[in-house]
Amino acid sequence: MYVELVSFTPQPEKLCALAARICYTDKEWQTLKQSITEKEIHNLLERVISSGHLSVIEHASFSFYIESISRACSHQLVRHRLASFSQRSHRYSKAEGFVTPPSLKSEKIYLETLDKAQKTYNLLLKKGIKKEDARFILPQAISTRIFLTMNARELLHFFRLRCCYRAQWEIRETATEMLKQAKKVAPFIFKVAGPPCLTGPCPEKEPCGTNIIEIRNFFKNL
Ligand SMILES: Cc1cc2nc3c(=O)[nH]c(=O)nc-3n(C[C@H](O)[C@H](O)[C@H](O)COP(=O)(O)OP(=O)(O)OC[C@H]3O[C@@H](n4cnc5c(N)ncnc54)[C@H](O)[C@@H]3O)c2cc1C
Repeated sequence: MYVELVSFTPQPEKLCALAARICYTDKEWQTLKQSITEKEIHNLLERVISSGHLSVIEHASFSFYIESISRACSHQLVRHRLASFSQRSHRYSKAEGFVTPPSLKSEKIYLETLDKAQKTYNLLLKKGIKKEDARFILPQAISTRIFLTMNARELLHFFRLRCCYRAQWEIRETATEMLKQAKKVAPFIFKVAGPPCLTGPCPEKEPCGTNIIEIRNFFKNL
């Protein structure tokens, strides 16, 4: 899997803090823009995030390029309706490569079946079958690439669901890497981003069983 934060709103934290600030101050815009301090930015973000005034952080967007994930993973990604996506088309480009879950790395029958699927797909193309039809033979393991954009509010929601240890391993790894990179450019917005157990009790009916301190330390040091 490869994940890259390609682009993001310049000075995302200052921008969101300014958006929050104009709601309550009588200060003139130019003065406000020039005089806002780091401390004020952090205080404002802390206040809006903890009070749930989250529309303010919708002003900052983050775009990621992700490759070598399975269609099983991308199918879960695209369920997030407030994000924007562009995905490699298997109608127009040849499908190649598979993602193998760690649990199947030495399962001969799995690897042989993937190999057979790829060979059958190649054969169908050779026979002149269109890519859009030949792809029906391919399993969910087929590799894909996707470009996605989310605003910070949607990212917080996404990390809450997908960084959870109960989420499927591949989307969890993808989300965790996205969080790691987003944290570098907006550490305050994403300070406590991650599964719900970072800030409260686990809401799952069947908890993951991992020690909560271990999870909190992991995300703190990400
Ligand atoms: C562990 C796990 C297991 C899952 N298992 C399944 C499964 O078995 N089957 C399955 O089908 N899906 C499953 N899902 C997917 C899940 O149901 C959601 O589709 C997915 O997580 C996207 O979440 P969302 O709808 O909250 O987020 P987004 O689509 O990212 O939306 C963000 C938020 O915006 C609001 N919103 C967005 N659209 C609407 C709308 N139309 N109306 C009202 N409010 C809206 C909601 O508050 C929503 O939480 C699973 C997800 C997880 C994390």
